[in-house]
Amino acid sequence: MGSSSRQDQDPAKILWAPWRMEYIEHCGTPEKGCIFCDKPKQNDDRSNLILLRGGTVYVIMNRFPYNNGHLMVVPFRHTSDMGSLTDGERSEMFEQLEVCRTVLTRVMQPHGFNIGMNLGRVAGAGIADHLHFHIVPRWDGDTNFMPILGHTKVVSEGLERTWDKIRDALKS
Ligand SMILES: [Zn+2]
Repeated sequence: MGSSSRQDQDPAKILWAPWRMEYIEHCGTPEKGCIFCDKPKQNDDRSNLILLRGGTVYVIMNRFPYNNGHLMVVPFRHTSDMGSLTDGERSEMFEQLEVCRTVLTRVMQPHGFNIGMNLGRVAGAGIADHLHFHIVPRWDGDTNFMPILGHTKVVSEGLERTWDKIRDALKS
């Protein structure tokens, strides 16, 4: 009790805030374009960490993950407005979230998930102009070693290995 090294923090707050800073630091100025629009146009899914392409949405790994296996489901179409999603986009987003949940369960055996959206910068969105769902696997006790106040601990080599594993599982 009363330890100053690990204060009681609201887990939701811990979970949804940090990647915002990572994106701001790593992605430069917003006028450089939108990574969620640009990456699918490049034909290099492994180095862009794109796992799955559907008709209207795709799945990409977060390059600055909060936890191992942190994925995002993103519509190809650039929009920040949930209300503008078509029925097709809406249902495909949900389908792909479920594909992600299933495959992450198989590959990583997490104990739970956080799934959600940060709409607007004030809510923690790193890329507020192009909405996206986060799906973050959780393990008992993972907040104890998460880089809550520090910087990301995952290197890109590790990310590509994870990409291989999930990609293989998606095909099987
Ligand atoms: Zn975009």
